[in-house]
Amino acid sequence: MNQKYCGTCGTELISKALENEGMIPYCTKCEQFRFPMYNVAVSMIVINKSNGKILLIKQYGRPFYILVAGYVNRGEQIEAAVLRELKEETGMEALRVKFNRTSFYEPSNTLMCNFTVFVKDDSKLNPNDEIDAYEWFTPEEAQTNILQNSLASRFLNAYLSE
Ligand SMILES: [Zn+2]
Repeated sequence: MNQKYCGTCGTELISKALENEGMIPYCTKCEQFRFPMYNVAVSMIVINKSNGKILLIKQYGRPFYILVAGYVNRGEQIEAAVLRELKEETGMEALRVKFNRTSFYEPSNTLMCNFTVFVKDDSKLNPNDEIDAYEWFTPEEAQTNILQNSLASRFLNAYLSE
């Protein structure tokens, strides 16, 4: 279990059997099960429909290319988070969004949900200041330039091998 204490009252959680669910963290004070919590984020393969190129970005002073990504807000629809993050980070609007796959990313306790986002062209691209650098790559170049052995590269390779 990834949380030791009740998020509501701070009591140390115990492990208690719940029918059909197995052993689940339980708060004896609140008398409630406390299912493990995790973050949800979206990452997106942004494709320029006019030429088939893929947008990769560099962020937070890091030297490598990754996919556009961001956290889903509490209460927000995941598909709405894709459109919001795309607009916030790149200024662009999606023509079409396609769900690809998800993968749990242990280091940040995050369920990453990957999508392909098609944009009309690059005329609206206006990166915000969270983006240090960006480049449009052909699919082959994108596979070479994206941070290798990362979750982003696994998402990209899986999508391109479909
Ligand atoms: Zn409690």
